[in-house]
Order: sequence, then C-alpha cells, then structure tokens
Amino acid sequence: MRHLADGIVEVDASGRIAGVREAAGAEATGVIDLRPLVLLPGMVDLHAHLPQLPNAGLGAGLDLLTWLERYIFPIEQGWSDPEHAGRISASAFRAFAAAGTTTVLAYGAVYRAALDAAFEAAEAHGIRAILGKVMMDRITYDDRIDRSTILERSLRESEELCARWHGADDGRLGYAVTPRFAVSCTAEMLRESAALAARTGAWWQTHVSEDPGEIAEVARLFPEATDYVDVYDRAGGLGPRTVLAHAIHLSERELARLVETGTRIAHCPASNLFLASGVMPLATYLDAGLVVGLGSDVAGGPDASMFSVMAVGAYVQTVRRVVLDDPLPTLGPLDWLRMGTFEGARALGLDDRIGSLEAGKEADLVAVDPRYAEALRDLPYDPTAIDPADIMSRLIFRSHPDMVRGAWVRGRRLEGPPG
Ligand SMILES: [Zn+2]
Repeated sequence: MRHLADGIVEVDASGRIAGVREAAGAEATGVIDLRPLVLLPGMVDLHAHLPQLPNAGLGAGLDLLTWLERYIFPIEQGWSDPEHAGRISASAFRAFAAAGTTTVLAYGAVYRAALDAAFEAAEAHGIRAILGKVMMDRITYDDRIDRSTILERSLRESEELCARWHGADDGRLGYAVTPRFAVSCTAEMLRESAALAARTGAWWQTHVSEDPGEIAEVARLFPEATDYVDVYDRAGGLGPRTVLAHAIHLSERELARLVETGTRIAHCPASNLFLASGVMPLATYLDAGLVVGLGSDVAGGPDASMFSVMAVGAYVQTVRRVVLDDPLPTLGPLDWLRMGTFEGARALGLDDRIGSLEAGKEADLVAVDPRYAEALRDLPYDPTAIDPADIMSRLIFRSHPDMVRGAWVRGRRLEGPPG
C-alpha cells in the first residue's frame, strides 16, 4: 500500500502508467490537476447482473427463490429485445463508472442478441467488461424457448459470443461462460459449459451456496454429489478461471477444495444481507488462503457502489466478531480498498494489468472527492493532514453518490461520473 499526499501519475499514449511519483513544485504542461481529489485504482466488481439494474433496491427481505420469480425473471425476459438490452447496458456502464467501478464481471440474460448488444455498449463506453450469456436448461423464464434443443443452442450461442468478444480490444472485453447456478442447470450443461470455458480460455462464472433454501434444492437435484461445491467439481468447473459468487455457507471440505483448486470467490455482502442469505466467515476464508474479491451483485445488492459494498462488508464482519466471538482480526479500510481493487484483479488473473497504480499497468483510475464524505462540508479541507486509512474510512463509511468525479480505463475518460 502506498500513499502520496501530493502525487503525479504519468500515463503514456497507449494508456499505460509510465510512472507514479511525488509532485515536485511546478509541473510541465499536459498535467490534469485533480487536487484535492483522491486518485485510486478503479474498483473491480466481480459480480453483477446487467438486466437487473432497473430493479435495484426492490424486494428487500424476500428469500432468494421468491425474489427471483417476482422481481428478476420478468425483467430479464425484457432482454429478448436486443435494443432494450443495449440501452440498459449503456446506462448500466455509465452507472458503474459513476460509482467508481472500471472493471465489471457481469451476467446478461439468456438471449444471444442481447449479449451482442451489451458487448457493443461496453465497447463504445470504454469500461473493462467480462460478460456472459446466462445459461439455464433445467428451468427457464421464457417459455418460447424450445426445451428440446435448449442445451445445444445455449452452448452454441455461448461459443459464438465467446469467439466474437473474448479478448476484444486487446483484452479489455472478455467472455465468461455463465451457467446461472446448479438449480437451473443440468449436470450436462454444467459439464459442457465448463469444457467450453476450458477450451476457449474464457472465464466460468456461476453462483454457489448463497441461501439455505437453494442449498437444500441443490442437494435434492444432485443426490450423487457430496455437497454444493462438489456439483461444480464433478462438472470440471473449479479452478483459477472460475469466479463463484457468494459461497456463504461452505463446509470445511468445500472451503478446502476451493482453496486447493484456486477457485475465486466474489463476496457480495450487501446482497447477502438484502436477501437475508447469510453472513460469510470472511476472515476464516482469507486465513485458509481463498482468493476473494468483492461484488455488488446488483440487483441482489441494492447499490452498484463498491464503496457501499465495502461498508456493508465491514459492518457484517464486525457483527461476526462481536456476536459470534470470531477470534480472527477485523479488516481495516485499506484492506477493504485492496479487496475491491487489487484482489478483484487477482481473482480475474488480471493483476499484472490492473488493480493498482504502478508503472507498467494500464491506467484504470478513479478520482474521488473526499470533501463529499466530510461531516462538515463548509469548513476548509486540508488534504495533506489526513492519513490514508482515515481517507478510506470516510470514503467507505460516508460514501456519497456523487463523490466519484472521474473514471478512466487505459487513460480514456469514461462517461458516467459528473466530472
Ligand atoms: Zn448473482
């Protein structure tokens, strides 16, 4: 962790960080003076659902399966219209950038054309995006889809989307093969989708162990499996290119197996509270060596802001420590910043490119105005007097929807933040 009270980040013509240094008096031309804003690595959101953003904040307190039926499947059906999908995606990418997120790993809906539209929107916007067409062959939310060919068709469409978009724009866009979760997929779909990801080098993303009702249903549907993680293990789905969302209620065996295979976890604390899913024993997982980044899980989570996800995550871990007398240490504000940036990049295997402000990395940056997080905003603000952990503490626990004033990917400014 490094903090410069008054620093310069040099970005070269290709959008890479050429150097990070202390500002030394008068600077040459071409310098954008952002003081007193705080320049941070762009946030990495490891789990979001693009079609669901319009319903963010609705349905608090419902259990997962009821919430899906009532608030989510109908809105995902709207993506059968690719123009609508393109509009929602463009708006969603502006919202992510406005929240300070420069990399997003997200689910689309089950429609191929909608995903082409979503990728086109990401291509135009400039955000770093890894997206996937949702695959479901056991249950589906669109009765117009022919059930007899649903598996073959979903695989073929995923493969075509992957061929078109995985690695596009020199790796700014990527494809994640996306079976929704074990409840909506047959063992064959899980297996074939994992094989597709392995064959193409794409990511593989799905949900695991989110909600007690869901876990019971998976046990009923897959009686041959030892536990929920074993369902994906048998499909060949575990490994460092796999990002599993939630993973709240893992057994010791499941945790050990995820660590052993290098499988990545998207921790979505705001969603887990919003849908009353449970509380992750995060410190235990980190202690075991699991790679964990953060996810907003909008619209399971009510807010796309990773700052607000960090705040909820921190409160939840405090509750664990206080109420359950969990002996492991609590994470501080800089630990949460790291989890929302560098660890997210590491979870995606992109930590050689993004996740921190270091020479040689691509310039994915956000500029945040710390004055928005002050309690008394009409008093003079002295940026040099504040400790970095204190700055982050304010930005996390007093985050403001307008505090992100700029977001860049590869040095290119993204539409979204108010500027
Ligand atoms: Zn989700």
